[in-house]
Amino acid sequence: MADLHTTLVHFDILYDQPVRLSPLVQRITANNPSPFTGAGTNTYLVGTDRFTVIDPGPAEPEHIDAILAATGGKIDYVFATHAHEDHSPAALPLVQATGAQMMGLQVVSDSESLDHTFTPARSLQEGEVVSVGECDLRVIATPGHLHQHLSFLLPQEQLLFAGDHIMQGASVVIIPEHGGCMVDYLDSLMKLKGIGIQHLAPAHGHLLSDPDRVLQELHDHRLARERMIVDALRTLKKATTAQLAPLVYPDVAGDLVHGTYMALAAHLHKLVHDGVASRHWEKHWLLGEVVWEWVE
Ligand SMILES: [Zn+2]
Repeated sequence: MADLHTTLVHFDILYDQPVRLSPLVQRITANNPSPFTGAGTNTYLVGTDRFTVIDPGPAEPEHIDAILAATGGKIDYVFATHAHEDHSPAALPLVQATGAQMMGLQVVSDSESLDHTFTPARSLQEGEVVSVGECDLRVIATPGHLHQHLSFLLPQEQLLFAGDHIMQGASVVIIPEHGGCMVDYLDSLMKLKGIGIQHLAPAHGHLLSDPDRVLQELHDHRLARERMIVDALRTLKKATTAQLAPLVYPDVAGDLVHGTYMALAAHLHKLVHDGVASRHWEKHWLLGEVVWEWVE
């Protein structure tokens, strides 16, 4: 993949302190860094007098206090791009503290990977615009990382709050059994091209400029992985998932290896969707004469 560093807009990541990114936007990063959250979850504050909070983050007292201090508690809405545990749990305490409205998409699955305290007052709709003071936020559905994933466009600054649809410095996790879909993810990347975005504000990592290039690179990178998978299978003739993973993800080791199986599952789902692979029996899929056995 081409080097995304060239598109990185660097402001220091500071934990539980506001960092001003633009006239209308501040960022407060939660102190929850990990292999899955990168430097930590970015909470964005949008507004100057009254505020919308986007992805409030984990319900850690230091993080919630920092959001309340930076906004003076003058919060009208708390949005979440999706209800993962590192994104939405602080919504409830913020709503309780300020009377703000919780907005996003209601959790529909009973999956343990979701935050069930995230119960929006109203479900946001594709294309809907929510205005607070001089700031508008336009809702853009971006399924893929999760079926229920939204992004929010701030037209005044041509800035897109991208949640986990686009991460800086890490690869987006797509887990079919937890509601992720590679087909939707790729479509959602291309959907954002050419709509006049100047910067991407991911929930993890730094701002990114040149969005159309970033979107195309992320899209092409996934298709290149897919070609690696198909090529490796055709070379081996018959392979298990455990044999395939190190060939496709040679740099991944330790705790993260299981994540490569999930990534392979997402690609397999797409290959079936595209008619390249078909289920043979039980844990066996066919790509022409090639057999892919799902043994981790
Ligand atoms: Zn997520």
